[in-house]
Amino acid sequence: MAEVTVLIEGENTRDKENKMSMGSSVTLIKSDRIILVDTGSIPAKDRLIQELEIQGLTPEDIDIVVLTHLHLDHMINVHLFNNAKVLCKVRGDEYPGQVHALPQGCLERTDLFDSSSIAQDVECMLTPGHTDDMMSVLVKTPEGNVVVAGDAFPNEEWTDLNMQPSPLLNLDVEKFNKSRKKILEKADYIIPGHGKMFKVA
Ligand SMILES: [Zn+2]
Repeated sequence: MAEVTVLIEGENTRDKENKMSMGSSVTLIKSDRIILVDTGSIPAKDRLIQELEIQGLTPEDIDIVVLTHLHLDHMINVHLFNNAKVLCKVRGDEYPGQVHALPQGCLERTDLFDSSSIAQDVECMLTPGHTDDMMSVLVKTPEGNVVVAGDAFPNEEWTDLNMQPSPLLNLDVEKFNKSRKKILEKADYIIPGHGKMFKVA
C-alpha cells in the first residue's frame, strides 16, 4: 500500500492590508514510484527542498509530479524536479491528459481519466469545477483512502454542503459541488488545496 505525507500545508491567508497569501499543499506519495502532488508557490521553495531532505529525498528522486490544475500557486516550483514526469489534465473530461518530460521539452498524451492508475495504489480522480482541468489523486493507504484534492476541496469548511462556491473563483459551480460530493464519498481523509488534512466524518 502507498504512504502519504503532507510536506507543506496549503495556506490562504490575508495580512493587515488585506493582501492575500496563497500557497498550495504539497503532498508526497511513496508507492512503487515517488510522487509529488502539486509544488506550492515561490516562498515554499526552500522549505520544500528541506522537507524532502527530511524524507531522505532530493528533488531528483521524484519520479512523478501531478499538477492538480494549472494555477501558479500549485505549479510554480515544478522546474525543481528534473527527473520527474509531470502529469496534468490541461483540458476537461474529453481530453486524455498530458505527460511532460520538462528538461527535454517532450510532451505526450496520457490517460488521466477516472481511476486511471498513476502508480500502485495511486489513481487519478477527475474533479472539475474550480477549473475544467482539475483532478485529484486517490491513494489507498493502510489508514484508508486519502484524496489529495487540490482546489476541488479548498479546505475543511467545504464539508458543509450548504456553503456555496463563488462563480468568480470557480469556473462551474455545479461541477464543483458534484466533485466535492464525489470526494466526500470516496475519501476517509482529505488533503485540501489550501488547508490542513482532515478525516471525513
Ligand atoms: Zn490554489
